[in-house]
Amino acid sequence: MTILDLELDEDMLLHVESRVRPSLWTPGDHARASQVKGLIKEAVDKIGEISRIRAVHTIMPVEFLNGREIHTRAGSIMSRRFARLASGSTGELFVVFLIATLGQRASSLAEDQETLLSRLVFDCVLSETIEIVVQRLEEALHRDMAVCSREMTSRFSPGYCDWPLEGQRVVFSALDASSIDVELNDYCVMVPAKSISCVFLAASSVPSATPCTFCPLEDCAWRRDTHTGEF
Ligand code: SF4
Repeated sequence: MTILDLELDEDMLLHVESRVRPSLWTPGDHARASQVKGLIKEAVDKIGEISRIRAVHTIMPVEFLNGREIHTRAGSIMSRRFARLASGSTGELFVVFLIATLGQRASSLAEDQETLLSRLVFDCVLSETIEIVVQRLEEALHRDMAVCSREMTSRFSPGYCDWPLEGQRVVFSALDASSIDVELNDYCVMVPAKSISCVFLAASSVPSATPCTFCPLEDCAWRRDTHTGEF
């Protein structure tokens, strides 16, 4: 198991700012747009000042696979779509487990805001920040896998697609989340809130980054890849 302790760099913060701005854009209302822009900057600066990214990850071999689950010694990932992705892979199959967090202090920044607008802006900035952090960690994991001549899928999280939220228990069984001060409550929700848990499949060859390529649900709001119908 690997524990990471990182700082948010300038590039990440600029990236956060540029991604949040369009989602909070208020066309025609220049005064509000300027207020929101100021709040985004304030949130980004504050998060950059107090946040410490902590992450933990590990890799486990797949012990068995069938049409509805991928089993590791930490338990089963109960997702037919992810299992189908695994069944199209070649070579020894592994699951990479990852949890990352911005920490309790940063996660509570939105709640500390006095107005509804500033709460909304801080919450959006925090959510985008943890997304970008995990995106960077994912890129680093892809590079590590490439060095070992392995391919890896995109991340897949409990509660996403057909994997029930209870799948959090498998991720938390694979990793010592207390080492980065993350807990799972009785509803399978992570505390601190600005945390992400996920898994990846790794093998000599994986057929696709996501199961969306072979999924016929064209109107799915969470689709990440075009449906090709292949394999
Ligand atoms: S399109 Fe939607 S339902 Fe289908 S695999 Fe992708 S996320 Fe899942």
